[in-house]
Amino acid sequence: MSNVRYLTTRELRNDQGKITGMIKVLVPKDSNNAKVKYVCPMCLKEAETAEEWKKPFAVNCKFCGYKIKLPKLMAQFKKEKKTELAGSTKE
Ligand SMILES: [Zn+2]
Repeated sequence: MSNVRYLTTRELRNDQGKITGMIKVLVPKDSNNAKVKYVCPMCLKEAETAEEWKKPFAVNCKFCGYKIKLPKLMAQFKKEKKTELAGSTKE
């Protein structure tokens, strides 16, 4: 995985606080372009997109316009890696 600069999958909550979506972000090494796959927590539709990698990172759902944020990247990095490993059997 040495050609990956950043990779995370996280659950997304809707405005009721329920986990109804997810976002996966992959940033290749030596690239500023994040590959994003998400399930919007508001309209529950799935899409893929590419966005410039920056912090804080956010994408707008292309169906409903909901702003999907990816907060606290560094603080949760270790936890996310664990989640990533635990979740990998689902795919
Ligand atoms: Zn949406």
